[in-house]
Amino acid sequence: MSISRLNAIAAVTNYRATAPALDFSKTPASEIFGANVFDDRVMQARLPKGVYQALGRTIDQGEKLDVSVADEVAVAMRDWAIEKGATHYAHVFYPLTGLTAEKHDGFLEPDGKGGALAEFSAKQLIRGEPDASSFPSGGIRATFEARGYTAWDVTSPAYILENPNGTTLCIPTAFCSWTGEALDKKTPLLRSMQALNAQARRLLSIFGHEHPDRVYSTAGCEQEYFLVDRNFFFARPDLISAGRTLFGAKPPKGQEMEDQYFGAIPERVLAFMLEVERELYKLGVPVKTRHNEVAPGQYELAPVFENANVAADHQYLTMTVLQRVAQKYGMTCLLHEKPFAGINGSGKHLNWSLGTKRMNLLEPGDTPHENMQFLAFCAAVIRAVDRHATLLRASIAHAGNDHRLGANEAPPAILSIFLGEQLTEVFESIAKGGGSKARAPGLLTVGVDTLPPLPKDAGDRNRTSPFAFTGNKFEFRAVGSSQSVAGPLVILNTIVADSLDYIAGELEAAKAKTPKALGAAVQKVIQKIMKKHGRIIYNGDGYTAAWQKEAAKRGLPNARHTAEAIPACQTKENEDVLAKHGVLTVREFHSRNEIYLEKYIKDVMIEARLAFEIAKTMIFPAAVEYQKRLADTSQVLKQMGQKHCTTVLKELCGLVAELQTRNEALRKAIAHEGNGDAARHALYCRNRIVPAMDAVRDVVDQLEGIVSDDLWPLPTYQEMLFIK
Ligand code: ADP
Ligand code: MG
Repeated sequence: MSISRLNAIAAVTNYRATAPALDFSKTPASEIFGANVFDDRVMQARLPKGVYQALGRTIDQGEKLDVSVADEVAVAMRDWAIEKGATHYAHVFYPLTGLTAEKHDGFLEPDGKGGALAEFSAKQLIRGEPDASSFPSGGIRATFEARGYTAWDVTSPAYILENPNGTTLCIPTAFCSWTGEALDKKTPLLRSMQALNAQARRLLSIFGHEHPDRVYSTAGCEQEYFLVDRNFFFARPDLISAGRTLFGAKPPKGQEMEDQYFGAIPERVLAFMLEVERELYKLGVPVKTRHNEVAPGQYELAPVFENANVAADHQYLTMTVLQRVAQKYGMTCLLHEKPFAGINGSGKHLNWSLGTKRMNLLEPGDTPHENMQFLAFCAAVIRAVDRHATLLRASIAHAGNDHRLGANEAPPAILSIFLGEQLTEVFESIAKGGGSKARAPGLLTVGVDTLPPLPKDAGDRNRTSPFAFTGNKFEFRAVGSSQSVAGPLVILNTIVADSLDYIAGELEAAKAKTPKALGAAVQKVIQKIMKKHGRIIYNGDGYTAAWQKEAAKRGLPNARHTAEAIPACQTKENEDVLAKHGVLTVREFHSRNEIYLEKYIKDVMIEARLAFEIAKTMIFPAAVEYQKRLADTSQVLKQMGQKHCTTVLKELCGLVAELQTRNEALRKAIAHEGNGDAARHALYCRNRIVPAMDAVRDVVDQLEGIVSDDLWPLPTYQEMLFIK
């Protein structure tokens, strides 16, 4: 075995925990929760009553922020942070790279008399000016006027990030250009939440809620990830630079035994999880479940759902904490969608709903009236997803997710909605004219009007649907494990807001004529929606070839990869919906698409260059070394007059020659440069470079099965997935 692999294995087997064991009995989890968050409790205790109430109105009811309160908030926040050992504060923002960015500033400023004072006022709280020139802006902000500013997001709580050498006060912010254009993922998310609130309340008031509370979307994100020992990680340049293995033959044992899922969690992994959870608790992230996933070395973590804006920030924190804590336990956390070929990839199920503090609007109710309301909200989702499927598809398109979507394990690239049989029946019977059917047991009866009974619990599950109704929320399963959930949330919020707007419009018009016939009006609008958009509902198996055909017949879009999906979303309908609800101007939308395409190109190019280099400088030398060994042996045997068999040598020679040819083809493909047209360049990457890389991989993986194990330079799948 190669020295680096031997050393890695030795290090793994000799691993001893260095971190002291966590003692939850000393500080119970309940006490830890939110300990580092400037949350409601802290604000209530530390802010003057008037200030606290004004802030509460902004946070809970979405009222405009009264800037005059910022001074007192800043002082309270600073004192609280300094008591917790903070020396610095940072505006945290969420650029289009999909990662978080932060600029740290010290609290201390010289007082002019030789000393220093802790300075942090409203000015510093409300606005920051990071050097924005190195963040992607898609042409919105030319580099010569590289100014952007970060603005305090009052609705997402500030928190303390700990480090053994000091702590930092972190303030979630939105990031805009000086002209007010969004440069980040948070700004449109906040705008979309506002649009959703406005339209949902409008509909609620039609249903007789006089002063509906603020409506916001809720999100609960299940995060899948892999853990590999760091020694293996560092012996794999592809994992280091691309986050996934570009080579690696299938191990004799993969996931076919199905013994990993919900199996016992390995000791070191459990220790890691406990610490991750404690760190997240401190930050107020309500993590709830943990378990093994289907593939060996794969795990999942899920929180309790929260307001979508906060949930999105917490999701970033979750990814950061997972990666940071893994290091401490001698492991690396891989968030990539497809770190290993041939076994399951990782997704991030985005559970989404909308509601107020008191009610979930996607919860089927107990009374006929509530159910009518539920059906209206549900119909809005149906219309939204069908009308803007291309937009939703683009929101999950990136190089990593291309390996999952449609790859026979994860949801297909075609968007459809799983409603479950019972709810589908309800919608279909409304569409047909509402003759209520025989009532199966367990169904709620709507009773009045012509609305049919509603299932109380959508019991059946379908794991192959990209977008499934799961009883009282929708689960968007096609989101990638490494991506920010903010993008998909923006789209969901906006397109649903738009459909609520449509439904409210129809009902308002109908109600004006015959105020009492709300039921009939709801029925009519649902009929219209089902007629036009019912095609999006599909309860069958999403993995089959038959569905591909059926979906094409229904006219559902099927963008198989990023290079297709992003240009395909740039339609007038999509531009209009984003602009109409003030979420993204056409210019912002286009510049974003440009950035995402460029990101795709960069990701593919990095992988291609890596693949070329590894093939040339690691695989080829190992292969020819073995070739020499076999050739020498063969020659000696021949001289001795012994029988010498050259079958393996011949096979090897063939593969080595093939490797050279294919790697040369890859080199040529990489040499092509784009001419500034990102969409065309992205297609070129997809159609030329990706296949060229796959071709090299194919021959390398065959070589792995022939070349002597002691010469093979890369840790194998077997080692990375099963040695823990
Ligand atoms: P699963 O069977 O997929 O594990 P769970 O009921 O455990 O389903 O929920 C999975 C995720 O859905 C959790 O993160 C949970 O907080 C979230 N969730 C539950 N209700 C809602 C809701 N109303 N809005 C958003 N997310 C929700
Ligand atoms: Mg789930």
